[in-house]
Amino acid sequence: MTQSGPTLPETMQAVVVHGPKDYRLETLPVPTRGPGELMLRVEAVGICASDLKCWHGAAKFWGDDSRPAWTETDVVPGHEITGRVIDLDDEAREHWGVELDDRVVLEQIVPCWDCKYCNEGNYHMCAPHDMYGFKRANPGGMEEYMVVSTNSLVHKISKDIPPAHAAFAEPLSCALHAIERANLQFKDVVVIAGAGPIGLSMIAGAAAKSPAQIIALDMDERKLEIAKKTGATRTINIAKEDALAIVREMTDGYGCDVYIEGTGHPSAVIQGLNMLRKLGTFVEYSVFKEDVAVDWSIISDDKELNVLGAHLGQNTWPRAIRLIEEGRLPLEEICTHQLPLSEFQKGLDMVASGKESIKVSLIPGQ
Ligand SMILES: [Zn+2]
Ligand SMILES: [Zn+2]
Repeated sequence: MTQSGPTLPETMQAVVVHGPKDYRLETLPVPTRGPGELMLRVEAVGICASDLKCWHGAAKFWGDDSRPAWTETDVVPGHEITGRVIDLDDEAREHWGVELDDRVVLEQIVPCWDCKYCNEGNYHMCAPHDMYGFKRANPGGMEEYMVVSTNSLVHKISKDIPPAHAAFAEPLSCALHAIERANLQFKDVVVIAGAGPIGLSMIAGAAAKSPAQIIALDMDERKLEIAKKTGATRTINIAKEDALAIVREMTDGYGCDVYIEGTGHPSAVIQGLNMLRKLGTFVEYSVFKEDVAVDWSIISDDKELNVLGAHLGQNTWPRAIRLIEEGRLPLEEICTHQLPLSEFQKGLDMVASGKESIKVSLIPGQ
């Protein structure tokens, strides 16, 4: 079956990364779809804390003495993407099982499907590690139209969900992976540090696994209220209460079984190492702006801890999408702000302050 493509404008608005603290709204040509690729009209793109860290110039993205730069300039950022399929061919139809006008979400990683990790099923750790919105090969979602390359992982999501909520599948899938890494048991007392978009998603994921206690830590009362609605059994405002003393008291003095770090603040790492019981499990999810200095003998000599990293959402997207479709998270309260593309800087600033917003999304074409 042949099909003529849709009539599209020649140009579109897009955010372009020129370097740290130098992102600009520009007019770009609308991209063209190659064989087997999908053309999307972007409906929403979430702003991630990692977008902000990249904007700030964090070494993880722009390199330092010990590592080369990973991200590139002249790239459209944005990896929390949802959009409508507006053009495709039979190859794409067959490959992803999608149709014209379907709404889809895209996994942020674009695996090479050829490296050691991809071959072992660990596609989320793909060696070249091309993600939407960081390298020129795969421009991200802060644009009105985008092309989905053939190596991508594409999932359908209900059209009944508001676009900003659908795009939340990205942070949620990452949080669910962190929960899987923690290997929660019914008897576990789990502490989740941070009740931002990721922390709240971890709480929802932990609740789905039903451990004995889910304790949410934050300094923002409003976020802690949402944490309760998301599944936290206890909340602690670390600005007002002694979280370490409370957790010890709740666990007969031993400490929590599992601590999941989702704040990106060095102090939350030290807090977790102190809060865990011996033989406990520490899961680190965050991206840090600066180095974290801790006494590693807590991990070895003192407590013999399991310390695990977590990155992206290996095989967790279908479940994340279902949690959203089932209304298991109070997304009306989590997705606080939707801005037009032209207000991307305001969006980044809002994520930076974290005061009035929880999840900020951009709505291209608005
Ligand atoms: Zn993200
Ligand atoms: Zn690979």
